[in-house]
Amino acid sequence: ASALLVQCRPGFEKEVAAELEERATLASIPGRASAARERDGYVMFQLDEPLIWSEVQAALNWRDLIFARQAWPVIHTIEALPSRDRVTPIVEALSKAGARVSSVMYEYPDTNEGKSRSGFCKRFAGPLENGLAQAGLLRPNGRDPQLQLFFPDETQAWIGLGNAQLTNPWPQGIARLRMPSEAPSRSTLKLAEALMCLLDDKERERWLRPQGKAVDLGAAPGGWSWQLAQRGLYVTAIDNGPMDKQLLAGGMVTHIRADGFTWRPPRAVDWLVCDMVEQPSRIATLMGDWSANKRCRHAIFNLKLPMKQRYGALLKCQDIIENKLNGVPHVLRFKQLYHDREEVTGYLSRTDFR
Ligand code: SAM
Repeated sequence: ASALLVQCRPGFEKEVAAELEERATLASIPGRASAARERDGYVMFQLDEPLIWSEVQAALNWRDLIFARQAWPVIHTIEALPSRDRVTPIVEALSKAGARVSSVMYEYPDTNEGKSRSGFCKRFAGPLENGLAQAGLLRPNGRDPQLQLFFPDETQAWIGLGNAQLTNPWPQGIARLRMPSEAPSRSTLKLAEALMCLLDDKERERWLRPQGKAVDLGAAPGGWSWQLAQRGLYVTAIDNGPMDKQLLAGGMVTHIRADGFTWRPPRAVDWLVCDMVEQPSRIATLMGDWSANKRCRHAIFNLKLPMKQRYGALLKCQDIIENKLNGVPHVLRFKQLYHDREEVTGYLSRTDFR
């Protein structure tokens, strides 16, 4: 591979580029990140020398990159896909690369222009997969890599080989979650995606136990509280605003009208979640404080990023938390989720509790 294609929320290309260069330096991968244009929703990381694609994908994994939704190595680009027959050039490119694949993922930038290709991708899947199968290149065995196709514009196709374990299973990294009709607000999807994306299967099973205790700061009207109650946790919802009546009637959620910055629980809780709209450094200080004083074992929180110096502001929040937890073993992760706009979601967990 000579380049890694990294997709992101349009407008966050600079942040991805900064992050990629930092991570690549740490992993001793020489190269440079550049966005073709701002707001395109993707960045290319050009490698200075050819490296083994799966190693690059592992070192610059989308899951560990805060602003990346998807990342995979490009092995070939087709500049002018003929409109009469788009299948043959892709089959030929794959055949030339000596690669067999077990599945195909179709992607395009998350821009208005890019989204106009979603219908094309759906129609194209049948003919392409037939063509690949006939050429003996597609065998759904789960062991061969996944063929990644990215259509940056009407005529081009970029071809990649993705390790299925290292690729975001949602095309474009867009988590299409169903909005539960009983949930009091759409932001419930944000916490659902955070739990899916920031924790692995084992962590979810271990830490999201029914009967657990949680606190939700800035809870109204209750989308996040609903998400936790749904998983069997008892929630104390802190907000001066009104909570959804039906949610409170369910008996899992108790509403306390108080200031989320000063209120503390009498006993430590399993989970703290926080969606108060405030300066990110204030939220980071609060999260660090709860964790350092053993008020919660795990925390998930939202950080609104400023208009400028967004990556710098995030690194500052990270520093605030690290300083508060000086010497305490912990895990700290950040991710800009699909449901996050000008914000990122954090996960902080003490690993020495009890
Ligand atoms: N997560 C909620 C949901 O899913 O329905 C939405 C939360 S909304 C984005 C932010 C909430 O934070 C508002 O209801 C607001 O009243 C509350 N809030 C802001 N500052 C607060 C403070 N200092 N103490 C308590 N609540 C606060």
